[in-house]
Amino acid sequence: MVRHSVPCTAPSPACACAQQVCGGLSPTPYCPDHSTTKEPVLEWHPAGGIRCTELTR
Ligand SMILES: [Zn+2]
Ligand SMILES: [Zn+2]
Repeated sequence: MVRHSVPCTAPSPACACAQQVCGGLSPTPYCPDHSTTKEPVLEWHPAGGIRCTELTR
């Protein structure tokens, strides 16, 4: 399942993640801001799910 993360910190210009229309991110290990080893992330939600749709609105 593809999940988006909603990070606690806003993406910086160094962010290497794929940014989603809902405002979430698909974190990559290469991103200095949101690499998977570097929490915290506020929230995870499934791509295309109810929460994702809510955030897109
Ligand atoms: Zn990032
Ligand atoms: Zn989403």
